[in-house]
Amino acid sequence: MSNSSIALEVRQAMWSRRGFLKAGAGMLAGLAGLSALPARADGPYRIVVVGGGFGGATAAKYFKLWGQESGLDVAVTLIEPNAKYSSPILSGMVVTRQLEIDRLDFGFDRLQDVHGVTLLQDRVTGIDAAGKIVTLSDGSTTVAYDRLILSPGIGFVDVDGWEKDKIPHAWSGRDQLQILTQQLADFPDGGTFVLKVPAAPYRCPPGPYERASTVADYLRANNKNARVVVLDAQADIAVEPDTFHGLYDDFGVEYYGNVQVERVNSGDAEGRGKSITYVTLEKDVDGTVIGQSAEQTIEADVINLIGDHKAADLIFDAGLNDGNWAPVNPLTYESTVAGKEYIHILGDAQGTPIVKAGQAANNEAKVCVDAILRTLGGDSPYATPIVTVGCSAPVTQTKVNWAGNVWRYNDGTLNMEKVAGKFAPEPSEANWQPMLQWAHNLFADSFG
Ligand SMILES: Cc1cc2nc3c(=O)[nH]c(=O)nc-3n(C[C@H](O)[C@H](O)[C@H](O)COP(=O)(O)OP(=O)(O)OC[C@H]3O[C@@H](n4cnc5c(N)ncnc54)[C@H](O)[C@@H]3O)c2cc1C
Repeated sequence: MSNSSIALEVRQAMWSRRGFLKAGAGMLAGLAGLSALPARADGPYRIVVVGGGFGGATAAKYFKLWGQESGLDVAVTLIEPNAKYSSPILSGMVVTRQLEIDRLDFGFDRLQDVHGVTLLQDRVTGIDAAGKIVTLSDGSTTVAYDRLILSPGIGFVDVDGWEKDKIPHAWSGRDQLQILTQQLADFPDGGTFVLKVPAAPYRCPPGPYERASTVADYLRANNKNARVVVLDAQADIAVEPDTFHGLYDDFGVEYYGNVQVERVNSGDAEGRGKSITYVTLEKDVDGTVIGQSAEQTIEADVINLIGDHKAADLIFDAGLNDGNWAPVNPLTYESTVAGKEYIHILGDAQGTPIVKAGQAANNEAKVCVDAILRTLGGDSPYATPIVTVGCSAPVTQTKVNWAGNVWRYNDGTLNMEKVAGKFAPEPSEANWQPMLQWAHNLFADSFG
């Protein structure tokens, strides 16, 4: 695949607020309520977006596009520590050396040059919700906002002994992906690869199962005579179990469910001596734990420990969490924590039931931007927003899987609920090009 094939070409029609709303929900009636917005007397309306991933980049871009369309004088500042965003979507192809890692890098040039977003390459370390300012990494520089939009992604629940530079999760960030890719390139003949599937909810539900089967196929194709083990926190494969059990049978992958990791040994400086120690939980029909096995330990050459997820550190540091995630109103994505008004949280960090996915983060950003613009115009947020999710990835060196589902606001539960879902009938070579086209469209819409 060339850079140009995932280059940032965007159809102008997709950028229009009316186009999104029509495509997303057929909500023509609601469009009548869109109002032109008055300029602020004391300067442009200040939107600060934290995190340049799928949620943050989309929010920054669409606030400029739809804000201007609504007549709002808006200044959008995007704060992201990395010069380029490294997409986890399609990263399985980097691990199996079918795609150069650079192809998944997305800079913010178009957000700045085409859309007029201001980029601050920095990390937010503090949020003063009452004063409406964020603090940057030097501890003294502050940025003021009228609305703050956070899409900082995920963190991981710690595991005793886990050194991530030796035992990568490779589930977020370029460095992690490089570590796992290199470890697999150096994989010894007759070696052991262990992949740990996190407990739900986690980013990209089919992703860990896909990674295990692609790695097994990759090691087989490279004659590594490998032992491949999947340790799953779930009782059984949570997504398309027939498909993945079939692939694991074909590739001789050992699969164990109900696994709880007790600790890991991250090995010496050269990466020798790694191991993972776990117990198998015994659960009753309701899923309540009623017992556990004795500890078992697997010595492994490569361990891909996709740890249990939680929201990124910033959410905890700012007191925006309830448990592991940030509770939000799904009509606006505004925090529901007392005293945190005007702060909106998107993407994997927020706590609605929506599947944690890049396409979901992109859609949530648009719902959030639209809701803020409606509110500024004196209207209510749209009453039944829809978020769509698409996931597509290789499951072998040649075959691709996909899944899609739709989430809609339920005014009875006051939360999002899944209203439709579909899986590929089976993985196939024919899904390869549609996967690339889908990813291209999502990348272009988010970063282009
Ligand atoms: C292997 C794999 C395959 C996947 N496949 C799919 C797929 O097929 N379809 C799909 O839709 N999704 C897929 N996903 C999931 C998708 O990548 C995530 O759901 C998506 O990246 C979440 O977007 P986000 O904006 O919430 O967070 P992220 O994309 O993680 O972005 C967070 C950003 O915030 C920045 N940040 C964090 N803290 C701070 C701070 N304090 N200050 C400033 N910036 C900060 C980070 O540097 C980062 O750039 C896949 C994921 C994986 C791992």
